Amino acid sequence: MRERAALATPQAPREDLRPAALRVEGVSKRYGRVLAVDNVSLTIAEGEFFTLLGPSGSGKTTLLRLIAGFERPDSGRIELGGKDVTAVPPYARATNTVFQDYALFPHMSVAANIEYGLKVRHLAREDRRRRVAEGLTLVRLVGLGHRQPSQLSGGQRQRVALARAIVNQPEVLLLDEPLGALDLKLRQEMQIELKRIQRELGITFIYVTHDQDEALTMSDRVAVLAGGRIEQLGSPVDLYERPTNEFVAGFIGVSNVIDRDGRRLVVRPERIRLLDPGETPGPGTHLEDGTVQDVIYAGMVTRYAVQLDRGGRLLVVEQNRESAAGADDLRGRKVRLAWRPDQAFDISAPQAERSEQ
Ligand code: ADP
Ligand code: MG
Repeated sequence: MRERAALATPQAPREDLRPAALRVEGVSKRYGRVLAVDNVSLTIAEGEFFTLLGPSGSGKTTLLRLIAGFERPDSGRIELGGKDVTAVPPYARATNTVFQDYALFPHMSVAANIEYGLKVRHLAREDRRRRVAEGLTLVRLVGLGHRQPSQLSGGQRQRVALARAIVNQPEVLLLDEPLGALDLKLRQEMQIELKRIQRELGITFIYVTHDQDEALTMSDRVAVLAGGRIEQLGSPVDLYERPTNEFVAGFIGVSNVIDRDGRRLVVRPERIRLLDPGETPGPGTHLEDGTVQDVIYAGMVTRYAVQLDRGGRLLVVEQNRESAAGADDLRGRKVRLAWRPDQAFDISAPQAERSEQ
């Protein structure tokens, strides 16, 4: 018995064994001639930070509205917490949505805005007070409950919108480009805040964005959408390091694609080295000769656009560990590029499976 106990080392629950917060099965939605969502299936685990990433018009908002219940699918099925909710109206689903434009009531105080959903649900006054206070604390707006929305900054208004959704204690929080109206610096601050709040509450977030950096930094997993379909679904590392097609390779990161020996290869710019003159590369290294067309100094890094002798053009990124003064001199020069063969991935194979699960 003792030996057995010793063997049973504790393990984190496997992702596929955690209960599903959301299951979408073969869901499609058409608007006239536009197939906005095209046979999408995915499963999201409880407590996951899951992102729908794609360009404008790829069907992100429609998919989110289907999950919230604002739209009914033409076909397919949606489950929340193991229950079929395909025909359940939005107010009876365990979801809440935060929109980009906040949609606050302009003539109500911050506290009244946050309290609104609780009043609608006839919560007792004491419970409402407590939850509003907790909500204000969570989004770091303590002391601002009496203000009108017009007296707040954009970032603060978005916090109110977030608190208003969270006090309803949804099992799944849906966020549609919630930081889209904020400037870059504020957006980055709010990304960290959102991650913290999600971790503290442990609720499932389904987050919509067209910003690949935002998706990579915040998410446990990401579904990349194009034309209403899932092009690839995986962790940020999966998507960046093992894109399965050219669309994903180009949408997440830089589209560094060349054709060699009948294969189509992607090489990430930071995996390519510019060899020093006279440097002998290690055995097995893939080599390409080319001419530097452009040098772009960006502070932390310098980017080189290189036209290859064998055809194609690649971007190379070098970190400026030393001063990059003099990098400009490389413009128009012949250079040799090198990368390990395992750093280039083949995307020429047709994709049998476009989405997992
Ligand atoms: P995203 O949020 O990724 O930008 P949407 O889900 O809003 O994409 O839109 C997907 C496609 O469906 C687009 O072609 C859009 O024009 C179309 N669409 C979305 N909502 C409607 C609607 N209510 N009526 C008609 N077409 C719509
Ligand atoms: Mg949208």
